[in-house]
Amino acid sequence: MAQDSDRAAIEQNVRTVFEKIRDAALRAGRASDAVRLVAATKGVTAERVRAAAQAGVTILGESRLQEALPKIEALGRPDPVRWHFIGQLQRRKVKSVVGRFDVIHSVDSVELAEEIDRRADVVGIRQAVLLEINMGGETTKAGFSPDGVRSALPRLDRLSHLEIRGLMTIPPPSRTPEEPRRMYQDLRHLADALASLGLERIRMSELSMGMSNDYIVAVEEGATYVRVGTAIFGDRDV
Ligand SMILES: *Cc1c(COP(=O)(O)O)cnc(C)c1O
Repeated sequence: MAQDSDRAAIEQNVRTVFEKIRDAALRAGRASDAVRLVAATKGVTAERVRAAAQAGVTILGESRLQEALPKIEALGRPDPVRWHFIGQLQRRKVKSVVGRFDVIHSVDSVELAEEIDRRADVVGIRQAVLLEINMGGETTKAGFSPDGVRSALPRLDRLSHLEIRGLMTIPPPSRTPEEPRRMYQDLRHLADALASLGLERIRMSELSMGMSNDYIVAVEEGATYVRVGTAIFGDRDV
């Protein structure tokens, strides 16, 4: 159970993060409701996630399926709460994710996209997804390269049970919030370039970028989703 003091800290953190998002959006000349907060809930108990939802968080972002399922079970989907999948997704786990999560932020290959499309067809839905871009060119990290996504797009456009809404990135670890700024700008430019290809089904209206250390910079650079864990829940022990 979350202690009252813990609950109060989470509520205060949520207020602070919302405030900082709003201030950064206004500073950048953006509407404050153009940015949505996704609370990254890996390693956080259902009780503590509930405290965040009660403080006004409406999007819960899980990155580990085996953790997510019992939490969804425990919390349900009290309106307006939505669950998003933000972590690396293995193809054999697609079945458990499609239809359970409103948006999958982490589609990192054509093969994964095809698997999600097949499953969405079976379930009879269109699954909203974002394409994960490896902007840092890290060999250890998943994601399309900027060139790779450009050449994959025509194939992705044929997947009629996917609703591709935009791009997501996780920058390499950085020492300062300013370090990823250029990468976030580049992601926005990439989304603009892809949108201008005029493919039938592909929209590029969402940019999922920014985490606890740098979400303010990401908002200034056009993020529509920021994924924030530590700044809400404190350090994770798992
Ligand atoms: C954990 C996680 C986050 C949040 O990271 P923090 O630094 O704790 O804010 C964001 N995105 C993804 C994909 C994550 O797994």
